[in-house]
Amino acid sequence: MSRRRRVSTCAACDATRVTRERRAPSTLGAALRRILCIAAHPDDLEFTVSGSVARWTSEGRDVTFCLVTTGGAGTNEHTPSSEGLLPIRERESREAARILGVTEVIFLGYQDGVVEPTIALRRDLTRVIRRCRPDVVVCGDPTVRYYGNEYLNHPDHRAVASAALDAVFPSSETRAIFPELLAEGLEPHKVKEVWISGALPPDAWIDIGDTLATKCASLKAHVSQVGKGEWVDGLLRGWAVRDGKHAGVEHAEAFRRMVLWDGK
Ligand SMILES: [Zn+2]
Repeated sequence: MSRRRRVSTCAACDATRVTRERRAPSTLGAALRRILCIAAHPDDLEFTVSGSVARWTSEGRDVTFCLVTTGGAGTNEHTPSSEGLLPIRERESREAARILGVTEVIFLGYQDGVVEPTIALRRDLTRVIRRCRPDVVVCGDPTVRYYGNEYLNHPDHRAVASAALDAVFPSSETRAIFPELLAEGLEPHKVKEVWISGALPPDAWIDIGDTLATKCASLKAHVSQVGKGEWVDGLLRGWAVRDGKHAGVEHAEAFRRMVLWDGK
């Protein structure tokens, strides 16, 4: 199910009420080469973090997408029926990933609209983390119930974000958790940083001035959800300008940055 937020929410403005200070944009550390982005639905990452993803891949970093559902409930005026939708959404996701320079898209095949933060999902995400062995995991914020006065955060978003954070810590790095993964040859792995999108308040901003156009193109690849996408550029540019103001740049994406381990 896509997030058709045509009206700008104001996460960064909420943050400003707390911090009241202008910050500089952040840069991902040079040693952080492998990035795993986890989301509930095929277009979630394109709406939220794809400008940063395009920047990171252009810097030579390796980015993998893990999508928990294939978006089978994503019906709207462009796609009135869910019949035959899954292969279409999978194809659109792969095209969006290609535009962004993402090397791999992993689909876990959960049913869209009814995802819960179960132990089974945590195990599946732990498996993905141990296999990809990322330096950085990017996911949503499971604690945010709503944004501003316009958008109730989708329960799948919260469930996936919660399971993703629990998979990062403690599951992926702890040998005794999910011993069945050891039997699959998947040794524990310690993630260095987590970048949480949609966090209130954010505390890190990535400058996407050079990649905003690529971000818009990647979202437009989801034709079953956005149609011709005439509104995409204006919406995403508005969000980028809003977040950019808090980082002193023209266009940005906002995150909360968690540093779990410096690698030493
Ligand atoms: Zn979604």
